[in-house]
Amino acid sequence: MIPSILPTYNRAPLAFTEGQGAWLTAEDGTRYLDLGAGIAVNALGHANPDLVAALTEQAGRLWHTSNLYRIPAQQRLADLLVEHTFADTVFFTNSGTEACELAVKMARKHWHDKGRDRTTIVAFGGSFHGRSAAGIAAAGSAKMTNGFGPLLPGFVQLPWGDHDALRATLDDTVAAVLIEPVQGEGGIRPLPDQCLKGLRDLCDTHGILLILDEVQCGMGRTGRLFAHEWAGIAPDIMMVAKGIGGGFPLGAVLATEDAASCMTAGTHGSTYGGNPLACAVGARVMEIMTADGFLDDVRRKAAGFRQSLEGLAAAHPDIIDHVRGSGLMLGLKLHVAPAEFVAAGYAQYLLTVPAADDVVRLLPPLTITGDELAEGIRRLDRTAAALRRDAA
Ligand SMILES: *Cc1c(COP(=O)(O)O)cnc(C)c1O
Repeated sequence: MIPSILPTYNRAPLAFTEGQGAWLTAEDGTRYLDLGAGIAVNALGHANPDLVAALTEQAGRLWHTSNLYRIPAQQRLADLLVEHTFADTVFFTNSGTEACELAVKMARKHWHDKGRDRTTIVAFGGSFHGRSAAGIAAAGSAKMTNGFGPLLPGFVQLPWGDHDALRATLDDTVAAVLIEPVQGEGGIRPLPDQCLKGLRDLCDTHGILLILDEVQCGMGRTGRLFAHEWAGIAPDIMMVAKGIGGGFPLGAVLATEDAASCMTAGTHGSTYGGNPLACAVGARVMEIMTADGFLDDVRRKAAGFRQSLEGLAAAHPDIIDHVRGSGLMLGLKLHVAPAEFVAAGYAQYLLTVPAADDVVRLLPPLTITGDELAEGIRRLDRTAAALRRDAA
């Protein structure tokens, strides 16, 4: 008999009833150190008092009015995003997937309105852009597309890191390139700054729009507000979600005026997108992340954690091949199955997240303390030791 919840997830036998900062309390009262943060969603920790206050204050006044009317909290969040990024304009969604839908629609309409037949979107192997028709067509992996055809046409996937294929494919028939500056689900694979710069140049040469998917690597995760800032470039369109709501469902598409001016009244919409509750929380998240010293602190903690992880890898060369990633978006490339590592972590009251390419992801709340990161290292050390004992 099919379960009452459609069984699309491989869930761990764990349920949590409370959270506090980097800690989650399970039903049986045990406490877990959370180095997954709901897959980079709880960027400011669980039950962050500032976010609880922003949400409850808004909840006591007004939940929803519809985009038929002006929404002051939405205006405030849009202004903050425009102030602190490349973007001239923002559309709010409820998720990263919906951000992908609009990014694709915007890129195509941009060229349509210019009278040009440029519809192809170039994406990359190992990428993840969500589970909608456009999202799975963009990522293109058999695991996500099998059985769901016919797929949305007009997407091409190139191998990650294949510069020759990129140069051969990008010409003035392409509408846009869609890429994660740091692949998340694909196994914490950062695009080197030089490559992102080179990609921006190639796009400029052919007039191609550059769409960055910063759903996972954005919102302070790499130690800059957005990962592309490290390369000193800017996209034309950017997808944001996960950390922007700190756990409240919220996503956004940020764009330049040139890319976005095709999206006029009536061309797109969302019932919940930019809802007062989500935007009240999102605005508080932005205020906290853009406050003096916040990202410096993330970078400082990340450097120490990275160094400790390198030591851990050196101590367990049979379990851990190497460390990779950026800021507090880190991956351990393993010699064991990531699912095994994650399960062994549960026995040490430690939460990590598996990814493709034999990688386990470490995505702690950005507010985690240095002491908690040190505790994480001790638990990772015990996890690796337990896996070795099991193998022996
Ligand atoms: C999670 C994720 C998405 C999809 O976001 P949802 O909120 O799950 O729809 C898209 N792109 C990337 C890079 C992601 O990590």
